[in-house]
Amino acid sequence: MNEKITLHLFYTAVAAAIIALAAGCLVILGGVRQQARIRLDRQAAALGEAFDRYGPESLETLTPEGVYLSFRLPDGTSGTVGELPEDRGVLTAQAALSGGGTLEAIAEAPDLDGSYGEIAVIVLAVAAMAAVAAAFRARAIVKPIRVLADSVDRDGAITAPYPEMEPLVRQLQSSRSSEQDMRQEFTANVTHELKTPLTTISGYAEMIANGMARPNDVKPFAEKIHAESSRMLMLVNDILELSRLDSGETLENPEPVDMLALSMECADQLSALAEKRGIQIHVSGSAMTVVGDERKLWEMLYNLMENAIRYNRENGRVDVVVSDRAVTVKDTGIGISPEHQKRIFERFYRVDKSHSRATGGTGLGLSIVKHVAEMHGGKISLKSALNAGTEITVNFT
Ligand code: ADP
Repeated sequence: MNEKITLHLFYTAVAAAIIALAAGCLVILGGVRQQARIRLDRQAAALGEAFDRYGPESLETLTPEGVYLSFRLPDGTSGTVGELPEDRGVLTAQAALSGGGTLEAIAEAPDLDGSYGEIAVIVLAVAAMAAVAAAFRARAIVKPIRVLADSVDRDGAITAPYPEMEPLVRQLQSSRSSEQDMRQEFTANVTHELKTPLTTISGYAEMIANGMARPNDVKPFAEKIHAESSRMLMLVNDILELSRLDSGETLENPEPVDMLALSMECADQLSALAEKRGIQIHVSGSAMTVVGDERKLWEMLYNLMENAIRYNRENGRVDVVVSDRAVTVKDTGIGISPEHQKRIFERFYRVDKSHSRATGGTGLGLSIVKHVAEMHGGKISLKSALNAGTEITVNFT
């Protein structure tokens, strides 16, 4: 960055100096030429007078060096003095002679021919000065950014080194604090979610260990411990999956995945859960390929279909339709009221905590679904009505 700014400043300074030098040279040259023209006019007038008074012979001695003179009289007499300068750039002046003839003086117009060497030296000197000045200025420009970075590192209090940087600093601070809030909230939620089953497990295990459980209680206690530890395991797996997705993991070795076949596989795996509640799952549609990670896409479909079963009514129905670039999972379940619809993709957000827990939910399923969909360029849309059902569609571009 420092080098880039130095180079930019250097080029700008050198270009500005060259333009200023060229403009200055042109102005000075114009002035010098104007003066030379006035001088030649005066010389022509003076030489005309001398011609009138002393005759053409006087011109030889009076004509200044570098001036070419020619005269012509009405009787045809003419003459010249000196050498005609090259035609590159000349100044001319005329004087009327008393006898009716004219006298013309020609001189070489001043130019920069002899000054090119000096101009080159000036340009080089300006370039050297510009290089030094650019290096200093670039360091001065970059310094506030370094200060900004340092102040972020040290104590988190960011102070804007330039007033112009204040909006950026405010933005950084607010996104930083909202990120911190989110992280804190997530940690608090995880701790709470893990603590609840652990307390239950520890309580039942303690009763068995202390001999406080009657022989008949041991089996149901062990079943409780098993259920709670399975829930914990599911939660830990979901948290791990989310943190993998959060770490900005990109799709490694993406491959074409047949979404219709994958939906059928998921439906098959969930058939036992559906049968328990008399729910029918139907998968229909046409073949559709998404290039991506099959395991993650499977998890996305599984979460959507599992929710459609868990939040369904007894003997309900789940329809999975795979169409051109979209997968829709539709159920005839409890539905989601409008005020909750915006939030259900947030981590740990549950409309009814006890229903979610009782059916083995972790509150992270839809966060994972959203992450996976976005990772594959998919967009989620939701339609739901209380007590009528829910329809979630993932549109792939
Ligand atoms: P959970 O593990 O609690 O199901 P999710 O992230 O999968 O967590 O879903 C978040 C919440 O959204 C659920 O607790 C539930 O209240 C609601 N929800 C998700 N899917 C459906 C659905 N198909 N029908 C009704 N409510 C649903």
